[in-house]
Amino acid sequence: LEEKLYCIGCGALIQDTDKDKAGYTPKSAIEKGLESGELYCQRCFRLRHYNEIQPVDVSDDEFLHLLGKIGDTDSLVVYVVDIFDVNGSIIPGIQRFVGNNPILVVGNKVDLLPSSFKESKIKDWLRQMMNKAGIKPIDIELVSAKTNRSVDDLLEVIKKYQKNRDVYVVGVTNVGKSTLINQIIHQASGQEQVITTSKFPGTTLDMIKIPLDDGHDLIDTPGVIHASQMAHYLSPKDLKYVSPQKRIKPKVYQLNDGQTLFLGAIGRFDYVKGPKTGFTVYVDNNLMIHRTKTENADEFFDKHAGELLNPPLGKENVVPLQRHEFKVEDTSDLVIEGLGWVTVPKGSIIAGWAPKGVSVLIRKAMF
Ligand code: GDP
Repeated sequence: LEEKLYCIGCGALIQDTDKDKAGYTPKSAIEKGLESGELYCQRCFRLRHYNEIQPVDVSDDEFLHLLGKIGDTDSLVVYVVDIFDVNGSIIPGIQRFVGNNPILVVGNKVDLLPSSFKESKIKDWLRQMMNKAGIKPIDIELVSAKTNRSVDDLLEVIKKYQKNRDVYVVGVTNVGKSTLINQIIHQASGQEQVITTSKFPGTTLDMIKIPLDDGHDLIDTPGVIHASQMAHYLSPKDLKYVSPQKRIKPKVYQLNDGQTLFLGAIGRFDYVKGPKTGFTVYVDNNLMIHRTKTENADEFFDKHAGELLNPPLGKENVVPLQRHEFKVEDTSDLVIEGLGWVTVPKGSIIAGWAPKGVSVLIRKAMF
């Protein structure tokens, strides 16, 4: 674009190159908008016409700036995390950035968890995960934006803690924040035409205000991409393996030490030392898991990655895996961030492998 154009809804700089970024507007819509004198970005356009928000992401810097601005307000912060990728949902320093404002943590996508899960146990566990990351939630709610499970309960809890304040909804991209807000919009009746966009002075961050019935607003904020997402290593077609769509069916493997499980060609689990025992794997149901001897595993990977072992499909798309070894004191999850986890018994020595930059870590077992 030659000249700088701004959306009259949210003030974002209009651009036609990046669909996921603020201000995106297709070329044809820019022309139409200029002709009619009402130029809206695609996000605002969809909001006005379909009452639906779309996800939009911003850079780390912009995001921190935004969080700091929220710190200047007196508000309730609703922090949405993906219960299947809690570690990948962490926003470092969020507690500091939002100042004294309380944080209500929402664990989304509970529809992916095995149906036997105990809500109170998972809430306790999630609270511990948050505390470890320096976040002290005022409360924890578990929902599924997709199936609409407990979204009404969440609204009640928001009301309880809101206390005459605006509500800011934050989260990294892909945790389901937009889906959740759209559910909220659809549940809140009689609010057509009144959703507005706005921005904090001095930022180009468009935010969407959804009026609550007490005169305050629920405000959607852009997401920020988590740097170590496994998703960066997969083609759009293979992304389904990292964002499972269906309830996870955990798979148990009885392993001797010296045995390895390949998780496609993007993850690998080695049982280094300990007695024969069961390991439970929580990954997308369709991800291929292949058992082999650790001593042959490197050779097996070189030979079969991208073919028998996939995703990714195609040898040219295979990236080398890096090894991370742990000795676990208690029953723990070995997490390959964005892919899933393996629950390992206490006392075992294990190693997790993932592409460079993808976090491999140990956490307290979820189940
Ligand atoms: P945002 O970037 O946080 O706004 O995330 P989106 O709302 O765009 O959702 C990201 C992905 O997660 C999409 O593929 C959604 O279909 C999916 N998703 C959102 N909510 C849920 C949920 O409750 N359960 C499941 N299984 N998937 C969800």
